[in-house]
Amino acid sequence: MSQRYFSEMPITTDSIRLEGAEAHHLLHVMRAEQGTEVVVFDGRGAEYKAKVSRVGRGLVDLHIVQRLDIDRELPLRISLGVALPKGERQRWLTAKAVELGVARMVPLITRHGVAQPTATALDRLRRAVVESSKQCGRNRLTEICSPEPFPAFVGQAPRDAIRLVADPRGDCSWPTIARERLQKAGSVVLAVGPEGGFAEDELTVATTAGWFAVDLGPRILRVETAAIALVALAAFTAGHDLDSA
Ligand code: SAH
Repeated sequence: MSQRYFSEMPITTDSIRLEGAEAHHLLHVMRAEQGTEVVVFDGRGAEYKAKVSRVGRGLVDLHIVQRLDIDRELPLRISLGVALPKGERQRWLTAKAVELGVARMVPLITRHGVAQPTATALDRLRRAVVESSKQCGRNRLTEICSPEPFPAFVGQAPRDAIRLVADPRGDCSWPTIARERLQKAGSVVLAVGPEGGFAEDELTVATTAGWFAVDLGPRILRVETAAIALVALAAFTAGHDLDSA
């Protein structure tokens, strides 16, 4: 895959200007000059073949050559609610969620959770989404939503989506979440708790609302391991990606 660049500005005409880190990388790492070919995307679903038309101080103008509607999304829409771990671990989790095709990530506010991400931390995660999308080829950005209290997240999940909460006390093993069920639903909402686990009544709120409580085995997983395992299970059980690979 050619070097991909992200444009904050929607690409609506046949030229686009890159500035900041994207321009810096093109100019000083790739040593771009007039005529250099790149791929640029704006996170709205398509990618564009482009050529450098002008380089300036801290900026690069691109001429759009061709729009390519390349869809690398999962046919299954995955929303991941997760009580985020701290620092580097939340960045790592975000990057892996992007690679696996998660559509939305919602930081969960839970009883036993640590402090919720600040606006600055959310911005950092949104930058991590862009970096991962450049690397893995996604042309749509994973949405990083504002933090939500767990009961509100449970309440807002569409009832026709498959809704799964990961918990070692769960009574639902994976084969119960049949492939046909996932394929038919078309969307899945996942919830992963904090290191301290979901409180008993939080789990009850979810199961009473029709969520499956999924047991991922006898070992206690870190938050990010549980989240990525669950996303991978949902994505690959639905099978669409593997079927078409
Ligand atoms: N002491 C906590 C462990 C929390 S681990 C407890 O006993 O609940 C952090 C989160 O990862 C959990 O809330 C759950 O969502 C998920 N998780 C970790 N290990 C899991 C397992 N074996 N099965 C299902 N979910 C798990």
